[in-house]
Amino acid sequence: MTASAPGVYTHSGKLGFGLVVVPIGALVSSLGLSIVYAYIDVYTPIVAHVTLFFIVVFVFPCAVGWSVSILGYVARCRSSGFLHLVGFLAGLLALYGSWAAFEYALLSSDSGRLDVSLLTVLLSPGAVWEVAKAINQEGWYSIAEMTPKGAVLWVVWAIEAVIIVGLSTLLAGIAIDRKVFCEECTRWCTITTDALLLGAPEDTSQLADLRPDNLDALLSLDTVPESHSPQIRLDTWQCTKCNNTGAVQAKLWAVTIDGEGERQYQSETLPNIWSLTPAAMAQLHALAARSPIGGSEEVP
Ligand SMILES: [Zn+2]
Repeated sequence: MTASAPGVYTHSGKLGFGLVVVPIGALVSSLGLSIVYAYIDVYTPIVAHVTLFFIVVFVFPCAVGWSVSILGYVARCRSSGFLHLVGFLAGLLALYGSWAAFEYALLSSDSGRLDVSLLTVLLSPGAVWEVAKAINQEGWYSIAEMTPKGAVLWVVWAIEAVIIVGLSTLLAGIAIDRKVFCEECTRWCTITTDALLLGAPEDTSQLADLRPDNLDALLSLDTVPESHSPQIRLDTWQCTKCNNTGAVQAKLWAVTIDGEGERQYQSETLPNIWSLTPAAMAQLHALAARSPIGGSEEVP
Protein backbone atom coordinates (compact mmCIF):
# COMPACT_ATOMS: atom_id res chain seq x y z
CA MET A 1 0.00 0.00 0.00
CA THR A 2 1.13 3.57 -0.45
CA ALA A 3 1.99 5.56 2.63
CA SER A 4 -0.90 7.96 2.22
CA ALA A 5 -3.66 5.37 1.67
CA PRO A 6 -6.08 5.12 4.59
CA GLY A 7 -5.85 1.94 6.63
CA VAL A 8 -3.52 0.37 9.16
CA TYR A 9 0.00 1.68 8.73
CA THR A 10 2.63 -1.04 8.29
CA HIS A 11 6.27 -0.65 7.35
CA SER A 12 6.98 -1.33 3.67
CA GLY A 13 9.57 -4.01 4.49
CA LYS A 14 12.24 -2.25 2.43
CA LEU A 15 15.75 -2.56 3.83
CA GLY A 16 17.14 0.88 2.92
CA PHE A 17 20.86 0.87 3.74
CA GLY A 18 20.09 -1.74 6.37
CA LEU A 19 21.28 -4.72 4.31
CA VAL A 20 24.87 -3.47 4.63
CA VAL A 21 24.89 -1.12 7.63
CA VAL A 22 22.96 -3.28 10.12
CA PRO A 23 24.97 -6.56 9.87
CA ILE A 24 28.35 -4.78 9.82
CA GLY A 25 27.39 -2.47 12.68
CA ALA A 26 25.87 -5.38 14.65
CA LEU A 27 29.09 -7.40 14.21
CA VAL A 28 31.13 -4.58 15.76
CA SER A 29 28.65 -3.69 18.53
CA SER A 30 27.91 -7.26 19.63
CA LEU A 31 31.60 -8.23 19.79
CA GLY A 32 32.51 -4.97 21.55
CA LEU A 33 29.74 -5.37 24.12
CA SER A 34 30.57 -9.05 24.65
CA ILE A 35 34.19 -8.15 25.53
CA VAL A 36 32.98 -5.53 28.04
CA TYR A 37 30.54 -8.09 29.50
CA ALA A 38 33.25 -10.76 29.82
CA TYR A 39 35.68 -8.40 31.56
CA ILE A 40 32.98 -7.26 34.00
CA ASP A 41 32.34 -10.96 34.80
CA VAL A 42 36.00 -11.77 35.41
CA TYR A 43 37.37 -8.58 36.95
CA THR A 44 34.52 -7.46 39.21
CA PRO A 45 32.95 -9.45 42.06
CA ILE A 46 29.56 -9.06 40.34
CA VAL A 47 29.18 -12.75 39.53
CA ALA A 48 29.03 -13.62 43.25
CA HIS A 49 25.98 -11.38 43.71
CA VAL A 50 23.00 -13.08 42.08
CA THR A 51 20.93 -9.89 41.69
CA LEU A 52 23.73 -7.75 40.28
CA PHE A 53 24.81 -10.58 38.00
CA PHE A 54 21.32 -11.01 36.55
CA ILE A 55 21.01 -7.25 36.04
CA VAL A 56 24.18 -7.36 33.95
CA VAL A 57 22.96 -10.51 32.17
CA PHE A 58 19.83 -8.56 31.17
CA VAL A 59 21.54 -5.26 30.37
CA PHE A 60 24.10 -6.87 28.04
CA PRO A 61 21.65 -8.40 25.48
CA CYS A 62 19.37 -5.35 25.80
CA ALA A 63 22.33 -3.25 24.67
CA VAL A 64 23.01 -5.68 21.78
CA GLY A 65 19.36 -5.68 20.62
CA TRP A 66 19.02 -1.94 21.10
CA SER A 67 22.17 -1.26 19.06
CA VAL A 68 20.77 -3.38 16.19
CA SER A 69 17.50 -1.46 16.28
CA ILE A 70 19.26 1.93 16.31
CA LEU A 71 21.38 0.81 13.35
CA GLY A 72 18.14 -0.14 11.57
CA TYR A 73 16.62 3.25 12.29
CA VAL A 74 19.69 5.16 11.11
CA ALA A 75 19.94 2.98 7.96
CA ARG A 76 16.23 3.63 7.30
CA CYS A 77 15.42 -0.08 7.42
CA ARG A 78 11.64 -0.63 7.36
CA SER A 79 11.71 -4.39 7.94
CA SER A 80 11.17 -5.47 11.54
CA GLY A 81 11.64 -9.10 10.46
CA PHE A 82 15.09 -8.37 9.07
CA LEU A 83 16.11 -6.53 12.25
CA HIS A 84 14.87 -9.39 14.44
CA LEU A 85 16.86 -11.86 12.31
CA VAL A 86 20.02 -9.74 12.65
CA GLY A 87 19.22 -9.37 16.37
CA PHE A 88 19.11 -13.18 16.68
CA LEU A 89 22.44 -13.59 14.85
CA ALA A 90 23.97 -10.73 16.86
CA GLY A 91 22.75 -12.47 20.03
CA LEU A 92 24.47 -15.72 18.99
CA LEU A 93 27.65 -13.79 18.15
CA ALA A 94 27.46 -11.88 21.44
CA LEU A 95 27.08 -15.19 23.30
CA TYR A 96 30.07 -16.74 21.53
CA GLY A 97 32.12 -13.51 21.78
CA SER A 98 31.43 -13.26 25.50
CA TRP A 99 32.58 -16.85 25.96
CA ALA A 100 35.81 -16.32 24.01
CA ALA A 101 36.54 -13.02 25.79
CA PHE A 102 35.58 -14.54 29.16
CA GLU A 103 38.04 -17.41 28.73
CA TYR A 104 40.72 -15.05 27.48
CA ALA A 105 40.21 -12.69 30.44
CA LEU A 106 39.99 -15.54 32.96
CA LEU A 107 43.13 -17.30 31.74
CA SER A 108 45.04 -14.01 31.30
CA SER A 109 44.27 -13.09 34.89
CA ASP A 110 46.33 -16.12 35.94
CA SER A 111 49.65 -14.61 34.89
CA GLY A 112 51.73 -16.49 32.39
CA ARG A 113 49.07 -19.04 31.43
CA LEU A 114 48.07 -17.46 28.11
CA ASP A 115 50.32 -16.12 25.38
CA VAL A 116 47.84 -15.87 22.50
CA SER A 117 45.77 -12.86 21.43
CA LEU A 118 42.05 -12.38 22.00
CA LEU A 119 41.58 -12.53 18.23
CA THR A 120 43.22 -15.96 18.11
CA VAL A 121 40.87 -17.18 20.84
CA LEU A 122 37.86 -15.70 18.98
CA LEU A 123 38.87 -17.59 15.84
CA SER A 124 39.25 -20.91 17.68
CA PRO A 125 35.71 -22.15 18.46
CA GLY A 126 36.92 -25.71 19.11
CA ALA A 127 39.37 -24.52 21.77
CA VAL A 128 36.71 -22.22 23.29
CA TRP A 129 34.40 -25.23 23.69
CA GLU A 130 37.13 -27.42 25.25
CA VAL A 131 38.08 -24.70 27.74
CA ALA A 132 34.38 -24.18 28.61
CA LYS A 133 34.08 -27.90 29.43
CA ALA A 134 37.25 -27.73 31.56
CA ILE A 135 35.94 -24.67 33.45
CA ASN A 136 32.64 -26.46 33.97
CA GLN A 137 34.36 -29.41 35.67
CA GLU A 138 36.09 -27.24 38.26
CA GLY A 139 33.76 -24.24 38.51
CA TRP A 140 35.29 -20.78 38.65
CA TYR A 141 33.50 -18.74 41.29
CA SER A 142 32.04 -19.30 44.72
CA ILE A 143 28.71 -18.09 45.95
CA ALA A 144 27.60 -18.62 49.56
CA GLU A 145 30.67 -20.86 50.00
CA MET A 146 29.54 -23.12 47.15
CA THR A 147 31.29 -23.44 43.79
CA PRO A 148 28.73 -24.19 41.05
CA LYS A 149 30.05 -26.78 38.60
CA GLY A 150 28.92 -29.67 36.42
CA ALA A 151 25.20 -29.92 35.65
CA VAL A 152 24.27 -26.94 37.86
CA LEU A 153 26.71 -24.66 36.05
CA TRP A 154 25.51 -25.94 32.65
CA VAL A 155 21.96 -24.99 33.62
CA VAL A 156 23.08 -21.51 34.74
CA TRP A 157 24.96 -21.08 31.46
CA ALA A 158 21.99 -22.33 29.42
CA ILE A 159 19.65 -19.82 31.13
CA GLU A 160 22.20 -17.07 30.50
CA ALA A 161 22.42 -18.12 26.82
CA VAL A 162 18.63 -18.08 26.36
CA ILE A 163 18.41 -14.62 27.97
CA ILE A 164 21.22 -13.23 25.80
CA VAL A 165 19.95 -14.57 22.46
CA GLY A 166 16.26 -14.06 23.34
CA LEU A 167 16.51 -10.44 24.45
CA SER A 168 18.82 -9.50 21.56
CA THR A 169 16.24 -10.90 19.14
CA LEU A 170 13.26 -9.38 20.91
CA LEU A 171 14.60 -5.84 21.17
CA ALA A 172 16.19 -5.59 17.72
CA GLY A 173 13.18 -3.88 16.15
CA ILE A 174 12.28 -1.54 19.00
CA ALA A 175 13.63 1.67 17.45
CA ILE A 176 11.36 1.35 14.39
CA ASP A 177 8.34 -0.20 16.13
CA ARG A 178 6.28 2.94 16.69
CA LYS A 179 7.61 4.87 13.74
CA VAL A 180 6.09 5.94 10.43
CA PHE A 181 8.16 6.22 7.27
CA CYS A 182 7.53 8.49 4.28
CA GLU A 183 8.37 6.31 1.26
CA GLU A 184 8.11 9.35 -1.01
CA CYS A 185 10.89 11.26 0.76
CA THR A 186 12.67 8.17 2.22
CA ARG A 187 12.72 9.62 5.73
CA TRP A 188 11.11 8.98 9.10
CA CYS A 189 8.12 11.10 10.00
CA THR A 190 8.11 13.35 13.05
CA ILE A 191 5.90 12.20 15.92
CA THR A 192 3.86 14.60 18.01
CA THR A 193 2.74 12.99 21.24
CA ASP A 194 -0.67 14.01 22.56
CA ALA A 195 -1.16 16.25 19.53
CA LEU A 196 -4.88 16.40 20.17
CA LEU A 197 -6.96 15.87 23.29
CA LEU A 198 -10.57 14.91 22.55
CA GLY A 199 -13.46 14.22 24.87
CA ALA A 200 -14.13 10.47 24.86
CA PRO A 201 -17.70 9.33 24.17
CA GLU A 202 -19.77 8.04 27.11
CA ASP A 203 -19.95 4.63 25.53
CA THR A 204 -16.33 3.59 25.05
CA SER A 205 -17.41 0.61 22.92
CA GLN A 206 -17.78 3.25 20.19
CA LEU A 207 -14.00 3.47 20.21
CA ALA A 208 -13.94 0.52 17.85
CA ASP A 209 -15.24 2.94 15.21
CA LEU A 210 -12.70 5.65 15.97
CA ARG A 211 -10.34 5.09 13.12
CA PRO A 212 -9.13 7.48 10.49
CA ASP A 213 -10.96 5.76 7.64
CA ASN A 214 -14.03 6.70 9.61
CA LEU A 215 -12.75 10.14 10.55
CA ASP A 216 -16.20 11.59 11.04
CA ALA A 217 -16.43 9.84 14.42
CA LEU A 218 -13.20 11.46 15.55
CA LEU A 219 -14.09 14.86 14.11
CA SER A 220 -17.44 14.87 15.86
CA LEU A 221 -15.64 14.90 19.22
CA ASP A 222 -14.74 18.13 20.98
CA THR A 223 -11.24 19.16 21.91
CA VAL A 224 -10.95 19.32 25.68
CA PRO A 225 -8.54 20.77 28.25
CA GLU A 226 -5.80 18.55 29.70
CA SER A 227 -7.70 17.91 32.93
CA HIS A 228 -10.82 16.55 31.19
CA SER A 229 -11.60 12.89 31.85
CA PRO A 230 -12.13 10.58 30.05
CA GLN A 231 -10.41 11.70 26.90
CA ILE A 232 -8.86 10.39 23.71
CA ARG A 233 -5.27 11.50 23.15
CA LEU A 234 -3.95 11.36 19.62
CA ASP A 235 -0.32 10.77 18.72
CA THR A 236 0.30 11.94 15.17
CA TRP A 237 3.10 11.39 12.67
CA GLN A 238 3.79 13.64 9.74
CA CYS A 239 6.52 13.93 7.12
CA THR A 240 7.89 17.44 7.62
CA LYS A 241 9.30 17.49 4.08
CA CYS A 242 6.31 16.70 1.84
CA ASN A 243 3.53 16.93 4.46
CA ASN A 244 1.73 14.19 2.48
CA THR A 245 2.49 11.23 4.70
CA GLY A 246 0.78 11.13 8.05
CA ALA A 247 -0.61 8.71 10.58
CA VAL A 248 -2.39 8.68 13.89
CA GLN A 249 -2.76 6.46 16.95
CA ALA A 250 -5.28 6.96 19.73
CA LYS A 251 -4.88 6.46 23.47
CA LEU A 252 -7.78 6.32 25.88
CA TRP A 253 -6.84 8.34 28.96
CA ALA A 254 -8.78 8.75 32.18
CA VAL A 255 -8.25 9.96 35.71
CA THR A 256 -10.30 8.58 38.56
CA ILE A 257 -10.32 9.22 42.29
CA ASP A 258 -9.82 6.06 44.35
CA GLY A 259 -11.32 5.25 47.76
CA GLU A 260 -8.54 7.13 49.56
CA GLY A 261 -9.05 10.26 47.47
CA GLU A 262 -5.88 9.68 45.42
CA ARG A 263 -5.88 10.33 41.69
CA GLN A 264 -5.37 7.25 39.54
CA TYR A 265 -4.29 7.74 35.94
CA GLN A 266 -5.19 5.15 33.35
CA SER A 267 -3.80 5.14 29.83
CA GLU A 268 -4.57 2.53 27.20
CA THR A 269 -3.02 2.73 23.75
CA LEU A 270 -5.51 1.50 21.15
CA PRO A 271 -4.20 -1.01 18.62
CA ASN A 272 -2.88 0.05 15.22
CA ILE A 273 -1.32 3.16 13.78
CA TRP A 274 -3.63 4.46 11.03
CA SER A 275 -2.41 6.09 7.84
CA LEU A 276 -3.95 9.46 7.04
CA THR A 277 -4.61 11.06 3.69
CA PRO A 278 -3.42 14.69 3.34
CA ALA A 279 -7.10 15.72 3.47
CA ALA A 280 -7.63 13.83 6.72
CA MET A 281 -4.53 15.45 8.19
CA ALA A 282 -5.88 18.89 7.24
CA GLN A 283 -9.13 18.03 9.03
CA LEU A 284 -7.23 17.06 12.17
CA HIS A 285 -5.18 20.28 12.02
CA ALA A 286 -8.42 22.25 11.77
CA LEU A 287 -9.78 20.38 14.78
CA ALA A 288 -6.60 21.13 16.73
CA ALA A 289 -7.04 24.84 15.97
CA ARG A 290 -10.42 24.89 17.75
CA SER A 291 -10.29 26.07 21.34
CA PRO A 292 -11.05 23.34 23.86
CA ILE A 293 -14.36 23.19 25.63
CA GLY A 294 -14.76 22.54 29.35
CA GLY A 295 -16.41 19.29 30.40
CA SER A 296 -18.85 18.37 33.12
CA GLU A 297 -16.68 15.39 33.95
CA GLU A 298 -13.62 17.52 34.49
CA VAL A 299 -11.62 16.41 37.51
CA PRO A 300 -10.76 19.36 39.80
ZN1 LIG B 1 7.51 12.97 2.78
